[in-house]
Amino acid sequence: MQLRHEYDIVVAGAGIAGISAAVKAGSMGCSVLLIEHYPFVGGMSSAGMVSPFMKSVTGGKALVNGIYKDLEAAMRKTGGMIDNGFYAWAFRSAANELLRDNQVAVAYHTDVVEVGVEGHKINMLKVAGPQGISDVYARQFIDTTGDAQLVSLGRFPWVKGDEKTGKLQALTLFFRMGGIDVKKTAEYSRQHKADFLEWMDFNFDFSRILSIAGYTGLIKKAKEEGRFPEDVDYVFFTTLPSSGEGSFNTSNILGIDASTSQGLTRAEQTGHDQVAQVVDFLNKDVPGFEHAYLIDTAVQVGVRETRRAVAQYMMTGEDILRAAKFSDSVARGCYGVDIHGQKGESNRMDALDEGAWYDIPLRSLRVKNATNLMVAGRCIGATREGHAALRIQPTASATGEACGAIAALAVKNRIPLDQVPYQMIRKQLLHNIE
Ligand SMILES: Cc1cc2nc3c(=O)[nH]c(=O)nc-3n(C[C@H](O)[C@H](O)[C@H](O)COP(=O)(O)OP(=O)(O)OC[C@H]3O[C@@H](n4cnc5c(N)ncnc54)[C@H](O)[C@@H]3O)c2cc1C
Repeated sequence: MQLRHEYDIVVAGAGIAGISAAVKAGSMGCSVLLIEHYPFVGGMSSAGMVSPFMKSVTGGKALVNGIYKDLEAAMRKTGGMIDNGFYAWAFRSAANELLRDNQVAVAYHTDVVEVGVEGHKINMLKVAGPQGISDVYARQFIDTTGDAQLVSLGRFPWVKGDEKTGKLQALTLFFRMGGIDVKKTAEYSRQHKADFLEWMDFNFDFSRILSIAGYTGLIKKAKEEGRFPEDVDYVFFTTLPSSGEGSFNTSNILGIDASTSQGLTRAEQTGHDQVAQVVDFLNKDVPGFEHAYLIDTAVQVGVRETRRAVAQYMMTGEDILRAAKFSDSVARGCYGVDIHGQKGESNRMDALDEGAWYDIPLRSLRVKNATNLMVAGRCIGATREGHAALRIQPTASATGEACGAIAALAVKNRIPLDQVPYQMIRKQLLHNIE
């Protein structure tokens, strides 16, 4: 597809939030450009190798439908998803199909490097690609860069880290291994329950995705011998569809601000060092891993938290845990406050009761002082605690889809964002709010 210089809507960042925003706006008949730094879609879901999808069903009620379900269905069709776990390739292929079917123009290998603002309105982005630097114009902009890049480059307000301490969540470099004797290692866990995390279910069903987290006894010994990374407390992996393969959410990289290239570089180096030590430990010490091998590490280190936009409403941890309902709801979630702690900060997982869920208000997507810019996904307007719940993939898809719908309604009715009637928005998003 030939790229133009002007679109109705530009979406920056093709993670699950950006894909969902672009597909929704495209399905409503708008011309949409999706700009992406990598030569592929998915962000954390593919470059970060993050799988599985976290919880979005509670009390038997599916809270996130729409484009998220379309992505799931397309991945299952290719055999690349089982239960809630999926391969990065399956995600990319499913997303590409949806983007193509909804006439979204995609610019890969392209970075937004400058944001042109007049008053409170973005009028242009400067993007850098292999052809050099060019200008792109649009009426509405959606920031799904994870790092709130449009917000930051446009000098709109943002915040970063814990409100009191400034701490940011730990990072993790995902990796995959093959050749695991899953039954043997599962049996080991059953016989050493005290060495595994309390949420583990030892009634294994080998036809489904298994989650195994622990090996603390073996790790303690390896640490004493200087053979295991100090900052990693347990090994956590889920088995992937093909038997004998595991996806490891195991490295634990502390003290990094991933919104700087120095920080990211240090994180990549530490992540690779940790993975090498963990794989060696698994091979030598852990029953079931004697013949296992490293298949690959993620393209980039997994980043949980950097900048968050300051929005018209900052959704809080209290909102999450009291299952708040809002009259301007555009999405919902049921995942609790999940903070992977920094040095000197413990991990935190405060879950909601089964059957409980919260609304996400439209105002959390509307950037303060910006008339034609919204945010979704990882850079949504929330406090650190609120963000720690809203950042997961299904919810990022729902907030992205909501941005796409709102921006499309503004464009089609030739009105500013704040004049789009909520009843119109609601109609477009009923599947995710009722
Ligand atoms: C280690 C880890 C484990 C996790 N575990 C789970 C889990 O088990 N289940 C779950 O559901 N969620 C999990 N999450 C959370 C979830 O993966 C992410 O929060 C979510 O995928 C974020 O999606 P996003 O679309 O908001 O952003 P991202 O996926 O970060 O996408 C942002 C995109 O924007 C692009 N971009 C950035 N800047 C620019 C620019 N200037 N120009 C052009 N493109 C740009 C990036 O290349 C990227 O593709 C985890 C996250 C991490 C890091």
